[in-house]
Amino acid sequence: MFLEGYTQKTRWRRAARGLSFVMIAAAIWGAYFAWRPPAPTLGLRHIEHWGRDSRTVSLTFDDGPHPLTTPLLLAALKRANVKATFFVVGDGLRLYPELARRMVRDGHSLANHSQYHFNLTRISPTEYPHEIETCFAAIERAYKSAGKEVRPTRLFRPPGGGLNREAIDYLYRNDVTLGWWSNNVGDWARPPAWKIWSGVTSNLRPGDIILLHDAGVGTPQAIPGIVKAARHQGLEFAPMPEQ
Ligand SMILES: [Zn+2]
Repeated sequence: MFLEGYTQKTRWRRAARGLSFVMIAAAIWGAYFAWRPPAPTLGLRHIEHWGRDSRTVSLTFDDGPHPLTTPLLLAALKRANVKATFFVVGDGLRLYPELARRMVRDGHSLANHSQYHFNLTRISPTEYPHEIETCFAAIERAYKSAGKEVRPTRLFRPPGGGLNREAIDYLYRNDVTLGWWSNNVGDWARPPAWKIWSGVTSNLRPGDIILLHDAGVGTPQAIPGIVKAARHQGLEFAPMPEQ
């Protein structure tokens, strides 16, 4: 009698254990399917680094043109003899076409940072074509109005780095290259120049793509020190690669 009750209890316990295992496994499986990245993620072209063997690094500036900081950046880059990549906002090109022309005439490359700087995760996917293609068209016009040969680009950096399944899927289907970075000091928060300089240079590795912003006065002031430290390491500067 005692033994029978014991066996019965053990059976129930085993069944309960088995059931909870199945439920946990189902929850993990379900969570994975809800989260899993879309298949195109694997095929989406993205650039975040020049490659391990490269001795080149790139300075990239998001959010311009800006009436106050773009002239300061252009002056600092000219003095340092560095060509960079500006991830411009299409509406900024419309507002400050003369600054866009100066970027191009100084030999810098333009790339896409959206038309209005909306985070793609917070707008409807129906707005992606306008947010992305309008800026590509504005970039092409900026090259032409500067009297320079158009450097065709499909390089795009999402505002705030915001990406979700729909955005990744759109970029993949529309032949866009994701322009990422490998060195990020957080200069969007407007730290003083010395902090930007020490943050970038203490982590600087060959091949780095350095994320900076055309938004604060600390960044242009940090350029000479960053360039000097990089050249001291035997590194050279070029605009970000397209492929
Ligand atoms: Zn931005």
